[in-house]
Amino acid sequence: MRAWTRPAVPTIPGDGRVARLFDSIEGRVVETRPDGIASIYVCGITPYDATHLGHAATYLAFDTLIRLWLDAGFEVRYVQNTTDVDDPLLERAARDGMDWRLLAEEQTDLFRADMERLRVIPPDHYVAVTEVVGEVAEAVARLEREGVAYRVGSDEAGDDLYFDSGFHNPAWQLGAESGLDRETMLVLSAERGGDPDRAGKRDPLDPLLWRAERPGDPAWDSVLGRGRPGWHIECSVIALEHLPATITVNGGGSDLVFPHHEFSAGHSAALTGHPLARLYAHAGMVGYRGEKMSKSLGNLVLVSRLASDGADPRAIRLALLGQHYRSDWEWTDAHLTAADGRLASWAAWAAAPADLPDDGFVGELRETLSEDLNTPGAIDLVDARLAAGLPATTPIVRAIDALLGIDLMAG
Ligand code: ZN
Repeated sequence: MRAWTRPAVPTIPGDGRVARLFDSIEGRVVETRPDGIASIYVCGITPYDATHLGHAATYLAFDTLIRLWLDAGFEVRYVQNTTDVDDPLLERAARDGMDWRLLAEEQTDLFRADMERLRVIPPDHYVAVTEVVGEVAEAVARLEREGVAYRVGSDEAGDDLYFDSGFHNPAWQLGAESGLDRETMLVLSAERGGDPDRAGKRDPLDPLLWRAERPGDPAWDSVLGRGRPGWHIECSVIALEHLPATITVNGGGSDLVFPHHEFSAGHSAALTGHPLARLYAHAGMVGYRGEKMSKSLGNLVLVSRLASDGADPRAIRLALLGQHYRSDWEWTDAHLTAADGRLASWAAWAAAPADLPDDGFVGELRETLSEDLNTPGAIDLVDARLAAGLPATTPIVRAIDALLGIDLMAG
């Protein structure tokens, strides 16, 4: 599937830093240590309410990481999926009396436009689950042959397949990534697409790998008969299609850590014998009016809405980068107003940059950002430079563009 247009990313003088990042398994900030190639899989949206600021904040976090890797001279391979068939999408389409394919297509288009607006570097492979149904079915069939997947019969259709989360594999253990106790896992499983109460499962937590066709449900022919993929296996299969067995970073929002990331990593370990990623990174949640911003609560602030109301996308970007990616925070209109003011003063300051070599500022910016993507710290550095009356120089203006994705010469 087509991604979106890549923004220009200028090169900057001097040496980039290898980014350090908080790893959910280790519970601390560690070096990302790419092996020559830096590979990353970031879970994409389920296209039915694109693109709220929570999404945007997550993709901007990993965009910052990718920009740091590029600056440090790594070749980057980036893959993202879109879950263009799944229960929440089908439910929304049914509610709105819309064809689910049309809804997914419209929302994916909107997402692409928003990512482009925000100058997010696109993935090298942007893959819809409907493009890999055959591959997913093959992978699930393999897991069944190896005894890691098992069947649960249903009255209305053929067998569904589930993942045995109690399987023994040195590359994965249930709970390692999320750090959650079983009780919490059961609650989250029920809330986030799982079916802990379904009879016939070996463990209530076991996630669905393959859903046999139900009347009126979308389904594809496959080695498992007609049906469609479960949610977590799609990401394991898409990552394995395009990236090494163990990637550098698997990223996504913190609401994906369980069950989605935990089980994608489990499926992947079962298929390859290797951990899915060296490092698992999660972005915090953005709230609005006292609640987490989410489709189900209907309290979404959309990037496209802000843009159509006249917001400069650079200000939206600056507002989101003003919060640390791992924190949970609440969006207010004041964030955008403040970012607008900051953008105006930065742009005025940078209007005629001095053609001077860097005086160490670019190094400070790199150092700050490479420590767990400290974008608020980087913004503070620029503010402090303005406040001190120090000039904008060509290397600094280029670094703000390359690392923060904000082109002060545009607009
Ligand atoms: Zn995923």
